[in-house]
This record gives sequence, C-alpha cells and structure tokens, in this order.
Amino acid sequence: MLDKIVEIRKDLEQSLETIKTAKDLEEFRGKFLVKKGIIQKLFEELKTVPSELKPQIGKEVNILSKFAENEYNRLKEILSTSSAETSYIDTTLPGRTSYKGSFHPVRQIMEEMVEIFKSIGFDVAEGPQIEDEFHNFDALNFQPDHPARDMQDTFFIKTPGDTNNILLRTHTSPVQIRVMKSQKPPIRCIMPGRTYRNEAISSRSLAEFHQIEGLYINKDVSFAELKATMISFSKKMYGEDSEFRFRPSYFPFTEPSAEVDISCYLCKGVGCRICKNSGWLEIAGCGMVHPNVLLAGGIDPNEYMGYAFGFGIERVAMLQTGIDDIRCFYENDIRVLQQF
Ligand SMILES: [Zn+2]
Repeated sequence: MLDKIVEIRKDLEQSLETIKTAKDLEEFRGKFLVKKGIIQKLFEELKTVPSELKPQIGKEVNILSKFAENEYNRLKEILSTSSAETSYIDTTLPGRTSYKGSFHPVRQIMEEMVEIFKSIGFDVAEGPQIEDEFHNFDALNFQPDHPARDMQDTFFIKTPGDTNNILLRTHTSPVQIRVMKSQKPPIRCIMPGRTYRNEAISSRSLAEFHQIEGLYINKDVSFAELKATMISFSKKMYGEDSEFRFRPSYFPFTEPSAEVDISCYLCKGVGCRICKNSGWLEIAGCGMVHPNVLLAGGIDPNEYMGYAFGFGIERVAMLQTGIDDIRCFYENDIRVLQQF
C-alpha cells in the first residue's frame, strides 16, 4: 500500500507540471480530488488495511490528500488572476456611455437672459400664471372690446363678463402691475415666466410659451435709456458687432412703442433662411409705459415715467439654436434635447 501511495504521488506531481489552463486544472481535480477520485479510493482501501498498519498508512494518505488539495487551490488562484490580467479587450464593442442631464434649451436661454439683465442692474420678479382680467387686460390699458379678450385668443377659466374673470395669463405684463402695486419707484426688474394663448399650434406658435418682461420706473426716464438698455443687452447676447434698428409699433400698454430688430448674426445681414432673406431678426417689443398703466399700478404719471420691454423666449431660443420649428422644443425628442 505504501508503494502505491508513492506511485500515486509521482503521478500527481507529473500531472501538476502539465497544468497550464483552468481546463487542465479541472481535469486534475476530476482525476484526484472528486468523490470517485484516486485519493478518495485510497481512503476506502484504508479500511481493509490491518489495524496495526493503519496509523502509518493513514498518515501517508492524509499527507497526500492535503498536498493535492493545497496544490489545487494554489494553482486555481494563480490561473484566476492571470486570466483577468491577460483578458482580451474587444475594441470593436460599443463603449458604455454615461448620460449627463442638462437644462432644457428654453430654460438655458432664459437663465442666460436673466443673468445678463441682472448684470446691468435688474432684479427678478414673478407673478401667478392664473390671472384675473384686471391684471391681464384692464390695468394694461386694453380697451373692453380689444380682440385679445376674445375667447378665441385667451384661455378663460370663467366666462367673460363675470366679475373678476379668471384666465391663464396671455403675457408676463400683469406682473408689471403687481410689482408697481407692491414696490415704490425706482423700480427696475425683469419678469420671466410661462404664458398661454389660444393659438393654433404651428411651426411658429404654441399655446404655451415663455416671455421675459422688463420694467424700469423712475423720474425722468427717456426713450434713449430704453434704447441703450436694449442695445446693451443684445450686444451681450448676440455679440458686440450686432447692429440694431427700432421700428415704430403699437401695444396698448406703451406709448410710443417700438419693435427691436438685430442684424441677422447668421448671415451678417446678407439674407438667409432664418432671417427670411431680410438680414434682420425681430427680437423684442418695447416702449414707454402708458400713463394709464402707471395709474393702474398706483403710480402718479405726473411724477414718474418708465419703459417696458418683452422678449419671447422660444423665439430667442429658435434664433440661438437654429431650430426652425418651435414644436421641436416640446416634443421631448431626446435626439434634439441632448444636443444642448
Ligand atoms: Zn440671415
């Protein structure tokens, strides 16, 4: 029996020398270490050994068994670490991408505009999106028969004609009235926010959109200051080399009123698809606050005057991003949004 153990030990040591892979190791285990393996058989044969020889032979079988197990574990560890080190990297596999969230492009533009106005001395004010007819129309000098009051243009929550008609604000201008009522001049603030109009949805208009309104009230405010503010803002937003023009316009709440155009920054005034070949882009409406609006806000128009302006944020965002269909902003197509 002792000779047999020596034979098996030789065989086992030879087998160990040939182990190069995990498969070789598994074969080694199958031969020596499993239940029906060579070493287990030795333990079974031990039962037939005369009892006076049992301690000596038993000791040898145990030494062999321990040796085989230890060698198996040692090789297993070596093979597992070396296989990790030399594992093959398939460079043709697509990489694992981690997705980074970002603000919506309209929000980004709004923040950018707010920051520019803050840098030239404007505070930020906000007001409710659900307004009454007084703040949305009456106080802003809209005549009772103004077409904007029609249900086809405005989302009324209560029927027109009821006292205190409730509606979704059609512009951010009612915040002007709320600011005038709650603050004493001088007032210098901007009012960003969401607005609603009962518009047919198309590539150029939505029923829900955003505006930034600006208001400055003080003694002796001039149209020249309004121009300077609009130009200063636009140069920061569109670049120092931008050119401007002010066109006469009409809004119920300002007199005189103007619309502001900047030279198209894409074609530098030559004419392109974005500016419809005119070389100019319309960016804002503005004017001197109408005395009736000051009165409605509780400010004496004989003592104070002011200017106001308003930007459509989606409009600015379309020009900035080159997106020519306003609906793209709200279709939540990740391929569009992740570009910003
Ligand atoms: Zn152009």
